[in-house]
Amino acid sequence: PGPGAPQGDPADLRLWDVRKTFPGGAVAVESVDLRFPAGELTALLGPSGCGKTTLLRMIAGLESPSFGRIELGGEDITDLPAHKRRFGMVFQNFALFPHLTVAENVAYSLAIEGVAKPKRRARAEELLDLVQLPGYGARRIGELSGGQRQRVAIARALAQEPSVFLLDEPMSALDAKLREEMQVELRLLQQRLGITTVVVTHDQREAMTMADRIVVMSNGRAEQVGPPQEVYQRPANRFVAGFIGKANFLSGTADRGEVLLATGARLSVAPAANFRDGAPVQVACRPEWTFLASEPGANTLAGRVAFVRDIGQVREIHVETPAGPQVCELPFSSPARPRLGDAVHLFLPPELIRVFPAQDRAEAA
Ligand code: ATP
Repeated sequence: PGPGAPQGDPADLRLWDVRKTFPGGAVAVESVDLRFPAGELTALLGPSGCGKTTLLRMIAGLESPSFGRIELGGEDITDLPAHKRRFGMVFQNFALFPHLTVAENVAYSLAIEGVAKPKRRARAEELLDLVQLPGYGARRIGELSGGQRQRVAIARALAQEPSVFLLDEPMSALDAKLREEMQVELRLLQQRLGITTVVVTHDQREAMTMADRIVVMSNGRAEQVGPPQEVYQRPANRFVAGFIGKANFLSGTADRGEVLLATGARLSVAPAANFRDGAPVQVACRPEWTFLASEPGANTLAGRVAFVRDIGQVREIHVETPAGPQVCELPFSSPARPRLGDAVHLFLPPELIRVFPAQDRAEAA
């Protein structure tokens, strides 16, 4: 750790300048510095190929970093083999042993360690209670539903009372409804145990449901780290703004603390964006923060309704403007019901507009 490094809980999991290049030259992780606070659930979130699985595997000890250092509780574990870390792991496909019973699966690591049978049986029962599968010990894996299998995989991962719990796309084998239930269940269990947890997911809703903090990744880098609401409300760059939630983007240039659009319209933005005059910028505003105005005025864009979509809890109004297409999201209770072809004005509240450099690093890569 260099001078000025932020101090955290001594039991934190830390990554210092961790990088991974595979033989052949594929750079999976560029240079990542991260702190996983003790007792918290951190989600590694990003599109396919961004390096999140590789990062998790390095934390697990299943892959060794090409560079950098991994610490747990201040201790260097970079070169510690996976089995000595004793971290709990749940994989995408659960990787259960079909020829063993549920209890044997759960107590598998304890059997390897030579724990006596009665003790293993008691521990398996306790863990099956914990994951709400009491009395399932004698069943075969083949007799279980997807959600039950996932619970068994979780119980098995927790058998050795790991200090760190790692999950790679744990919900991907489950259908949508069950996935949502298991997200809540897993989050409650994690909070009850207070176990330091890292979950890999490409699903922003899943990350927002479960995580204390989200690490948004792209191209082998951590683009932003923060609590779900912060990442959503104050995206650090264009990539994050577009990946978490929806966003309307507008191109323009910085001009005396405002943004001058190519159409000649001006947008005031607050807090005053810190760009030199003439710098190309991208403006992002979320559809739910884009409002219908009854008349033209400051920070409005004129346009025509190109499409209306009523999807239950919200009504999406797609508007074609000279500055490009914009989407405005109205709550289902809104009395406004613009129709196809109507002339409308969109109001973009200065305090809810984000301004980014025209080209992010993530985009440029
Ligand atoms: P997904 O969600 O699709 O699993 P991911 O974000 O988990 O993606 P990784 O699996 O970590 O991404 O892969 C990151 C990059 O590293 C990809 O470009 C991938 O092709 C490459 N990569 C991963 N594993 C290897 C390997 N064993 N050998 C070579 N390249 C690899």
